[in-house]
Amino acid sequence: MASSHTVLMRLVASAYSIAQKAGTIVRRVIAEGDLGIVQKTCATDLQTKADRLAQMSICSSLARKFPKLTIIGEEDLPFEEVDQELIEDGQWEEILQQPCPSQYSAIKEEDLVVWVDPLDGTKEYTEGLLDNVTVLIGIAYEGKAIAGVINQPYYNYQNNEKQNLREHKNEAKAGPDAVLGRTIWGVLGLGAFGFQLKEVPAGKHIITTTRSHNSKLVTDCVTAMNPDDVLRVGGAGNKIIQLIEGKASAYVFASPGCKKWDTCAPEVILHAVGGKLTDIHGNALQYNKEVKHMNSAGVLATLRNYDYYASRVPESVKNALVP
Ligand code: AMP
Ligand code: MG
Ligand code: MG
Repeated sequence: MASSHTVLMRLVASAYSIAQKAGTIVRRVIAEGDLGIVQKTCATDLQTKADRLAQMSICSSLARKFPKLTIIGEEDLPFEEVDQELIEDGQWEEILQQPCPSQYSAIKEEDLVVWVDPLDGTKEYTEGLLDNVTVLIGIAYEGKAIAGVINQPYYNYQNNEKQNLREHKNEAKAGPDAVLGRTIWGVLGLGAFGFQLKEVPAGKHIITTTRSHNSKLVTDCVTAMNPDDVLRVGGAGNKIIQLIEGKASAYVFASPGCKKWDTCAPEVILHAVGGKLTDIHGNALQYNKEVKHMNSAGVLATLRNYDYYASRVPESVKNALVP
């Protein structure tokens, strides 16, 4: 019998379970202790065994169930038969119980583009800043990010910046009552779930920005916002979580380097709760399959008061970042 659920809601329900599975892979690689680090373009652009295995798991699991999807993953991997153990076939029932927003009910599988960042915050992952890490699965239709899933494998994990990875590789445990890891999901027109929405106290300007990919332009732009505080943390997914949980008021990244798979899922979660993510000029990002991967004109995202931050981006910064 044909499923009564729409393609979009079935895909989101599967992506939830698949992102959870990827999160367990990310934890397992740490526990096993061999990260298999490879430099991609430079010393701050890394890939680990967890990035590779998680991407294989996510892309193969999605493709088996939804063979007509366009799936674009961050990692450039040689084609190989994927171990059955990496395949996730489940779907999150609570998502299937939700109504599909009517504007998306007729979407066909072949009309959807999925952007996959199997491990966002790899640099921090290799340094033991484990709660910076997320798994991102973003879903786009007609060039627009419309649904997304973020798994945070080490949610509830207590980081200790002074420890190195080797020291705590087998200590990735939550406190006695806390469950390690969580999954946040959202669909435009339906909402975002799996977290408690919180705002930064009124009048406070707290900027979150890159920890590992800083530049003069990034610092110039952050300084121009006249912030009360600046949080330098890893991961695009992690920074959007800071916005929706009241830890930061704006994510400012005046630099190329961040890609479509970094922003697709996080953008949906933010937009579903009334926030806004654009490039540094205020342009919406496009997610059709032909689009260039790089977000060349940077990222500006806020939960509230977008205009305050947008109006403070210096002209010199705008001129340096061509869309
Ligand atoms: P960050 O805020 O530094 O964690 O960056 C957010 C995302 O963009 C991560 O996936 C980074 O790997 C990526 N990214 C940002 N800048 C660069 C860069 N210069 N080179 C490679 N990746 C970058
Ligand atoms: Mg990333
Ligand atoms: Mg990544």
